[in-house]
Amino acid sequence: MIDSVLSHAIVMLDAEGRVIRWSAGAEKISGYASSEILGQSLGCLYLAEEAAAGKPARDLRLAVEARGAEFEHWRVRRDGMCFWASVAISPVWDESGELAGFTEVTRDLSERKRVEEANLDLIRQQVACASAEAAELRIRQSEEQYRALSDRLEVILQGIADGITVQDRSGRLVYANQAAAHLCGAASSDILVGMPFDQVIARFELFDERGAPVPLEALPGRAVLEGRPALPLVVRLRERASRRDFWTSIRASAVRDGTGAPALVINILHDVTATQKQVEAERCLSRAATTLSESLDHPSTLRALAELLVPDLADWCAIDLLEQDEIVPVAIAHRDPAKLGVLAAFREALVPTTGKVRASRRVVRTGRAELHPELTEAVLAQAGYDESLLAMIRELGLRSAMVVPLAVHGQVFGTMTLVTDEGGRRYDGADLALAEELGRRAGVAIEHARLFREAQLAIRLRDEFLSVAGHELKTPLAALSLQLHSLDSAFEHGTVAADLPRWAARVRKTIAHGRRLERLISELLDVGRISAGRVVLEREDFELGGLVTEIVERHAEELARSGSPLSLVCPAPVLGHWDRSRLDQVITNLLGNAVKYGLGRPIEVVLTADEGWVELSIRDEGIGVKPEDRQRIFERFERAVSERNYGGFGLGLWIVRALVEAHGGSVTVDSDGGRGSKFTVVLPRTGSGGMP
Ligand code: ADP
Repeated sequence: MIDSVLSHAIVMLDAEGRVIRWSAGAEKISGYASSEILGQSLGCLYLAEEAAAGKPARDLRLAVEARGAEFEHWRVRRDGMCFWASVAISPVWDESGELAGFTEVTRDLSERKRVEEANLDLIRQQVACASAEAAELRIRQSEEQYRALSDRLEVILQGIADGITVQDRSGRLVYANQAAAHLCGAASSDILVGMPFDQVIARFELFDERGAPVPLEALPGRAVLEGRPALPLVVRLRERASRRDFWTSIRASAVRDGTGAPALVINILHDVTATQKQVEAERCLSRAATTLSESLDHPSTLRALAELLVPDLADWCAIDLLEQDEIVPVAIAHRDPAKLGVLAAFREALVPTTGKVRASRRVVRTGRAELHPELTEAVLAQAGYDESLLAMIRELGLRSAMVVPLAVHGQVFGTMTLVTDEGGRRYDGADLALAEELGRRAGVAIEHARLFREAQLAIRLRDEFLSVAGHELKTPLAALSLQLHSLDSAFEHGTVAADLPRWAARVRKTIAHGRRLERLISELLDVGRISAGRVVLEREDFELGGLVTEIVERHAEELARSGSPLSLVCPAPVLGHWDRSRLDQVITNLLGNAVKYGLGRPIEVVLTADEGWVELSIRDEGIGVKPEDRQRIFERFERAVSERNYGGFGLGLWIVRALVEAHGGSVTVDSDGGRGSKFTVVLPRTGSGGMP
């Protein structure tokens, strides 16, 4: 039965482990015939090195101790080949319980082992494959992450408003973001990086805050490369080609290598044009304020202002003032004095072509500033200039323009025109705001100058008036006091009674001097009242012809003295509602002047009326009034004669005009061919006003 089991080797061993029984299965598996193996030690079936190390005895001992043991290990066949065996060793005991020997059942597991090892190999390969894939995946993932991160970083750097550039040790640009490209005038950051750094810098002129050129060594990036301390620097860059200019603050820092030497320089360019422009505008305004306050003579002040604004704010500047509805050029300045001639000719030529400098006229009319950022050919073509004007424009090379009003409290005195030429800047809203503020300040300066001139004139008139007034008041007063002294001494000597008619005549003269004094003083009082607008009319109904007749009679003696015959034409009674004493004053003044300036020639007084209006004219054939004086003589203290020839305050006609106007009427003078004068007063009958 045992020999029929060929799949297992069934072996019996004695207590020392020698083979005492060897089945047919054992023969098949190990290749030993039982005749060869019986009596041999179990060790001959073990690997030589294991047998030498005592493994067979150890296995048997283990089987005894454990009362049976199972192993898997290598066994050796007779032909020396090894096979993987499953071995179950069981101790066999005799009746007395002594170890009699062992049974050993062995199975060749080589096939299973091979399959298992093949499987194991497969698994190992799969594991190796899987871990290789995993490693590759990890690399790929980290590459992707890196790419995503650097993409994101690039997006961030490109999106930053500040310009960022990176230079290598040699100063070559190795990176630039979009903002840097924009600042440097390159179409893209790649184009900028492709350009040699010197070529990028050569496109610009660099200035510091005081306008002094900045050398390349002073740039912070250069300092970092050379290991010098790099302080931030504010630089004005002017692009040579376009003359576009902007301000930027530049900072630089180093990326250092292992030795601490700068390997890369990172430059950060922050555009500070807006802030810097604000600072410049304030500086410009304060310089303008100084210029404008230096003198009250406005033409020279305005010339200084125009020169101050060129070339910082404009390539040329023109200031025009409005004088009696005419726009008159007062100041002009050009960056290039050689072009002043063509500029003046251009502005002069604008007059016939376009009906005065058009923009200035518009600005004067509307009071609103104009900004023309880009004076392109097309814009100029629309303006309808003729060929000669266009030629001058081409020579001047206009680019951008602003026209602002010079105004105070909405009253426009003139305009200021600021223009840049081809190479110049393009004006924007901030420039216009600055120019408008300059216009306002210039307007205030002009207004101050005007007020100053008026005040000076008023002071001069007052001084003249005081000297005339002193003289005027003193003359009748001296005559009056002389007469009174003679009368007094005549009384003392008792000679009055002896020559009564002579003394009576002298008393009348004295009274006349007193009247003249009284009239002069009331004229002076009227100045205060009229100036303060305190003329109160006390109206009543009366007949004007009667008043005129009465006044003429009052002047009989004076007329007789001057020799002027007087004719009065008053066809019908003229009734109205007026202030009698004020009209008395008006007629007395006009008649007094006719006698005074009438050279003893005839005087004609004519009073006519219609339903609503009355006209009184007083005509003499005396010295007359020159056309240029006809307006002026109605003003306060204004006279058209020398005080040496004719006394007077220059107040009479001013008072006449004020009183007539208070009645709603008017007074004018006419001088017929320079022979004599005719003063005409027109009055409404009711006194409510409104000219016919
Ligand atoms: P006054 O006579 O005191 O100078 P008025 O105001 O009355 O002042 O006159 C102002 C000026 O007008 C005079 O100084 C004189 O030059 C001129 N004027 C006035 N009336 C006549 C006149 N009838 N003929 C010529 N000139 C006159």
